[in-house]
Amino acid sequence: MTLSETIQSNKSAAGFTVAAVVLSVVSGSIFLSMREAEPIIAGPGVTKQHMLSEYNPNLAGSQGDTPVFELAGEKPGGTVTILGGTHPQEIAGMMAAVLLIENAKVTQGKLMVVPQSNRSGFSHTDPMEAYLHSYTIETPNGPRWFRVGMRLSNPVDQWPDPDVFVHQPSFENLIGHETRNLNRNHPGTATGWLTGRVSNGLTALAKSSSLIFDLHEAQPEYPVINMMVVHERAFETAATAQSMMQARRIPMSIAASPKNLHGLSHREFGDHTKAESLLAETANPAMGRFRGRTSLDLVVGGKDENYIRASKLGRTFVKIDENGWPLQVRVARHLASIEEVINAYNELNPKTPIIVENIPKYKDVIEKGLGAFLKPPPKV
Ligand SMILES: [Zn+2]
Repeated sequence: MTLSETIQSNKSAAGFTVAAVVLSVVSGSIFLSMREAEPIIAGPGVTKQHMLSEYNPNLAGSQGDTPVFELAGEKPGGTVTILGGTHPQEIAGMMAAVLLIENAKVTQGKLMVVPQSNRSGFSHTDPMEAYLHSYTIETPNGPRWFRVGMRLSNPVDQWPDPDVFVHQPSFENLIGHETRNLNRNHPGTATGWLTGRVSNGLTALAKSSSLIFDLHEAQPEYPVINMMVVHERAFETAATAQSMMQARRIPMSIAASPKNLHGLSHREFGDHTKAESLLAETANPAMGRFRGRTSLDLVVGGKDENYIRASKLGRTFVKIDENGWPLQVRVARHLASIEEVINAYNELNPKTPIIVENIPKYKDVIEKGLGAFLKPPPKV
């Protein structure tokens, strides 16, 4: 090699090294920024803030530890626990939980809200799905930002996946990556992998609850949408709530929780605690297989041309037209379900009622938008 070739070679090596460092810094800063959780502001009804590690101390200091908001009334009564963000890409569940935290007030009994049940899952997105990392909602006082996460815990927090996930205590076998799916881990284990420990903390929370309600979303071509999936002990409550929703022209169906499908909240909280356990699903076109580009208009607006065509061809379980299925409609449905389930519980349990005021109303959320019910963004 001549001297000039050696100099050229050294220059190329230096160039590659600089490029590698720049790439590492850029990707590292994106990775770290994804670990930052969005601000959730305690409204006037919040009486205490906890972390889930109070319910399972083995979560302390981990990415699975997550805020729990308590809204307690002055009079004793029942306790309802609301879980958002079990599956962090199903954003209506988390947003409905946030609207409760920032608006609701309890006069009797207690409301416990976990907005980011799988907090690790909020720190990444599925690389094959091209999801947005976050989205914003305009409020009268400026924009608020929120995460779009992934169905599974972040592999950075729980790795590697086994070939086969053996659910405890049923010994049901599932594909290995489901070991990071919070809604296949219930009732969880006090020690062991992160997602199981998170589930164990939530099960402890369910043990002190009269009702526990897990908020989800699914693709419009999935039959279990605009539906409550209900443990058999919660059936009377759910059926009473359903009839009230039908009367309000908010169609809602009910499915019984399958007895042999293990790890799911509606089954395991119902079997392992005294709480009545329910799960609700809304239709989210941003999660579906027919969708086009995962734009903000799709994630927040719920609008997608392919879905309008799919709906016309009868391939979806809800009608989808040019209005789409906007986030505010899906959140309004979740809030109406919560309101009617609490009303039904109170009717059936008059000695231990849960009186929750200021749950944003279905029509108001749809007409005024989510921003009207969100607190101003915190000053930085
Ligand atoms: Zn889900």
